[in-house]
Amino acid sequence: MARTLAKSTLKRLRALLESEQERLSRMIEEYEQELEEARLTETSSDRSPDPGSAEAGSLKFEYEKELSLERNAVDLLRKVEDALRRIDNGTYGVCEVCGGPIPVARLEVLPYAATCVNCARKA
Ligand SMILES: [Zn+2]
Repeated sequence: MARTLAKSTLKRLRALLESEQERLSRMIEEYEQELEEARLTETSSDRSPDPGSAEAGSLKFEYEKELSLERNAVDLLRKVEDALRRIDNGTYGVCEVCGGPIPVARLEVLPYAATCVNCARKA
């Protein structure tokens, strides 16, 4: 079922998604660099703190925090890219679950939303 959204609305939402896509890609790149640096410092340091120390604990924590941030960004980027694909194939703005229209007000806040509010609540 196709959804008819005003061309201007679609254009605005596409612009939102594209800037989000760019922002996330840059973020992921930075995370990857930081993670790579963390890995390098860890393996190259022969005076590595012993695993039980507070220093090692906080390094591990930092590393894991970065990892989970990166995972979130990757997830979000996937959603943004899906939404852009849906704009291209004309299924954008249609709830993935019930096939009903997603209100423009929701898309303005969450341009990558793939479900209507009702279905999102049930999920
Ligand atoms: Zn729905």
